Amino acid sequence: MEPQACTPKCLPVRRQDYGTQAWSSAWADKMYPRVDYEKCSGCKNCVEVCPGEVYRIEGDRCYPSHAEDCIECWACVEQCPTQSIQLIDD
Ligand code: SF4
Ligand code: SF4
Repeated sequence: MEPQACTPKCLPVRRQDYGTQAWSSAWADKMYPRVDYEKCSGCKNCVEVCPGEVYRIEGDRCYPSHAEDCIECWACVEQCPTQSIQLIDD
């Protein structure tokens, strides 16, 4: 059997080789942050660490009001002390 040419669909296994931003713009489905407000403490870490200025403060809560600007760096997920943030792809 002849080997088949590599296609972008085979690249997920090598995601780490391409870097998150380059990967997301080139190949992957767009991901967005989602906050679990049952767990969120309102510390605002996500606002401070987000390079895309995705989050907005309203009262004592932070909302991913500009989720379309997420560059999928995962900083908010990593810096959230209550593990309230997930990146989702739908
Ligand atoms: S993953 Fe990065 S760019 Fe996206 S919302 Fe979190 S901190 Fe902002
Ligand atoms: S970092 Fe987490 S706990 Fe803090 S405001 Fe953002 S979602 Fe809430």
